[in-house]
Amino acid sequence: AKSRGRNQFGYFMPSMQRAAQNKMRTVNDLRAALARNQLRVLYQPIVELSSGRIRKAEALLRWEHPQRGAVSPAEFIPLAEESGLIVAIGDWVFQQAFHQAMRWRASIDPQFQISVNMSPAQFRRQWSATGPPPLPHKRSHPLLGRYSGSEIVLEITEGMLMESTHSIREQLLAFRESGIQMSLDDFGTGYSSLSYLKKFHIDYLKIDQSFVLKMVAGSDDLALCEAIVVMGHKLGIKVIAEGVETQEQRELLTGAGCDFGQGYLFARPLTAPQFDRLLRRRDRG
Ligand code: C2E
Ligand code: CA
Ligand code: CA
Ligand code: CA
Repeated sequence: AKSRGRNQFGYFMPSMQRAAQNKMRTVNDLRAALARNQLRVLYQPIVELSSGRIRKAEALLRWEHPQRGAVSPAEFIPLAEESGLIVAIGDWVFQQAFHQAMRWRASIDPQFQISVNMSPAQFRRQWSATGPPPLPHKRSHPLLGRYSGSEIVLEITEGMLMESTHSIREQLLAFRESGIQMSLDDFGTGYSSLSYLKKFHIDYLKIDQSFVLKMVAGSDDLALCEAIVVMGHKLGIKVIAEGVETQEQRELLTGAGCDFGQGYLFARPLTAPQFDRLLRRRDRG
């Protein structure tokens, strides 16, 4: 009866209402996908530019929809955030990444780290139901109960630092105190007040790929990257360049003293077994 109703009235339905329905359907599908284990985490290598070695990875979520095929995170993450589903999904990604980091720490490199993208709602949840927060405590967050090492780096955006409420900022600081490292994603695209870099003791800056993709010798984009590296290093922050696609970009970034590179030049996001194969191939030379 439900689908007949949709057919009958679909023609008259204002397009905004139809868009809202599509959204709702996508959110329901996403919820089912999480329950049925149809989401996947891919890992994109992060390479130390001075040595060419893979030192880290970024966890990137993928959704293979049974009818629609691959749905881009750019499409479904905003819906997951709007619906609150991102909290459960984010926990799942965090756990996958944590276990993978433990495996790679055992097999490849005891310092190996995986960075995980965080949404604001993942920091907000503790206190949303109970009103104003008490003083944050190390163990107040579900993720912190189990994970307190440096296996995981949280990727947050400038917006989360600038626009977030007091309670989110307090929660971020509580994460920091527990030893979890933080990376500032998409750096240069927002409205960062540079004082936040110091205040939150950021460990890594990720230069946004929009600066890297068009970078050539003598370009303004290169000058910006160089300036970010100098500033980062003066503050004790390591710098990661995203979207490295060409050998020229790699050389310019290495010349600028950038610490790490991530991008299609090195590898696309990979499944864990693909990642293992790549590492073994590299080890053999
Ligand atoms: P992001 O965090 O900025 O991730 C980097 C994006 O750049 C990824 O897109 C990656 O596949 C892509 N990329 C990597 N190297 C290159 C390159 O050399 N050239 C180009 N053109 N692109 C490159 P992806 O995987 O489609 O993810 C899109 C966005 O979705 C991410 O942007 C992130 O904001 C969000 N996202 C992905 N996974 C998660 C997650 O688990 N949780 C949350 N909250 N957000 C996620
Ligand atoms: Ca990211
Ligand atoms: Ca980014
Ligand atoms: Ca982004």
